[in-house]
Amino acid sequence: MDQYKEEKKRIRLVRADITKLSVDAIVNAANESLLGGGGVDGAIHSAAGPDLLRACAALKGCKTGQAKITPGFQLPAKYVIHTVGPVYRGGMNKESELLASCYQSSLAVASHNNVNTIAFPSISTGVYGYPIEEACRIAIVETLRYLSGHSEITEVTFVCFSDRDLKIYERAMTEF
Ligand code: ADP
Repeated sequence: MDQYKEEKKRIRLVRADITKLSVDAIVNAANESLLGGGGVDGAIHSAAGPDLLRACAALKGCKTGQAKITPGFQLPAKYVIHTVGPVYRGGMNKESELLASCYQSSLAVASHNNVNTIAFPSISTGVYGYPIEEACRIAIVETLRYLSGHSEITEVTFVCFSDRDLKIYERAMTEF
């Protein structure tokens, strides 16, 4: 598919710890309370320091599929965009729409805050149980769609936490 040839050049796949990346914003796969959790959320909070939890508490939660921004505090990234992915319950409970909405909302928040470079973890594919093969297609297609109308986002990094996940993303990228 050549439809997104230009947009694909602005996508980067890496195997990394997202807390180490020097980008304008990293995305956190949070829960609706925004008061911290395990997985990537726990890693981001421990690397950013306690000011992040205070900033999150002031946001009064975040609905599934939406996104909110805080500073990055002690992180190399300037901002953290907190989004809440859906818990996967078999796939017939609006999971795909909600996951698509996480990517759309996070990218829209990025644009509104002069973020040019952004890194996403694989939202919902950890504790929330979304099959990564499906989830990463949603991540890629929603990002390509957004990039086609938004030149201000110059680079989107998909951060994979294992070699297996990276291979799944690499394969999915060849479908677009
Ligand atoms: P969710 O509750 O949305 O499923 P998790 O944090 O459990 O969120 O997992 C989301 C993804 O983040 C998983 O693919 C997991 O392997 C990955 N992950 C966990 N820690 C990190 C990290 N430090 N950097 C990047 N990705 C991470």
